[in-house]
Amino acid sequence: MSGHEYEPSAEERLIARHFRPLATHPGALGLGDDAAVLTPPSGCDLVLTTDGVIAGVHFFPDDPPDKIGRKALRMNLSDLAAKGARPVGFLLALALPAATDEAWLAAFAAGLAEDAARYDCPLFGGDTDRTPGPASVSIAAFGAVPHGRMVRRSTAKIGDCVVVTGTIGDAALGVELRRGEGRRDPAERWRLTAAMAAHLRQRYLLPEPRNAIAEAVLRHATAAMDVSDGLAGDLAKLCRASSVAAEIDVARLPLSEAARTALAAEPALIETVLTGGDDYEIVLALAPKDLAAFCAAARAAGVPATEIGRIAAGRGARFIHDGRTLAFARPSFSHF
Ligand code: ADP
Ligand code: MG
Repeated sequence: MSGHEYEPSAEERLIARHFRPLATHPGALGLGDDAAVLTPPSGCDLVLTTDGVIAGVHFFPDDPPDKIGRKALRMNLSDLAAKGARPVGFLLALALPAATDEAWLAAFAAGLAEDAARYDCPLFGGDTDRTPGPASVSIAAFGAVPHGRMVRRSTAKIGDCVVVTGTIGDAALGVELRRGEGRRDPAERWRLTAAMAAHLRQRYLLPEPRNAIAEAVLRHATAAMDVSDGLAGDLAKLCRASSVAAEIDVARLPLSEAARTALAAEPALIETVLTGGDDYEIVLALAPKDLAAFCAAARAAGVPATEIGRIAAGRGARFIHDGRTLAFARPSFSHF
């Protein structure tokens, strides 16, 4: 009697075809075992984070599939960068509607493969389910920092400079543009050129996590956090964790030309810029003596960094514009 030859299921074939190419670390075992195995780099702590996206909540169901996986991975990479960690790998849990076709999956996986290679962050495993609900892409990522050195939110010191990377508010304005399609076009109201509107939309679709300066953050920051729910609310969280206040000069906020143009047409958009979310920049506190070295390292890495204010005694993050403190109806993006 011959033994039973096991044929791979459709699910196994799907995983092998689309996801095995991303599993380049030997510990992933080619996605062929129940679990993966990882020896932490010697002398390092593992930094763990998870974040995901759901169709209709974090992306539009008709967004290009290659961008969806990349966005989910980049949200996690941004957390690692803010903690001064270098990426080691990630896990991927997918819940997909029955209507998801092969072309969608192929594009989704190809986008993810591109970023896994770009950020040197291979896939270690995951889970794939069908769902009666909207598509959901959940990622858990892990990074490495020298033992005991993960950069925290809770360690900012009075007198520190506050620095933010990149520009803020672009993605929040990009979402407004996307939502405004078919109605009275916000791009027109804000007097944006086509290139400016494209810039804002792109910043929402695909964030640029600042992993290139993770090492500089590790070396110089006294405290840091990922800006994902709006600078106003996120900086307030850092202040609360550190039991300090922050005084931010609104005139010094780094804004793209597109955001500046929109703000000139509609000054009330400052609230969207500061509370809208999806920036995936890093806000950090550092000692004034380290500011020049940090900015030089950021420049060398091609990441803009701008000093926007100071850490002070007290509570809360104050955004000061023409001598007055801005008040926000809703300081931070929150799902609840
Ligand atoms: P289990 O039954 O133990 O949950 P699965 O059959 O779900 O295992 O998965 C088999 C293998 O395929 C595992 O190594 C798992 O990590 C991997 N895998 C499943 N789905 C994905 C995915 N979306 N991305 C990466 N690896 C996956
Ligand atoms: Mg499983």
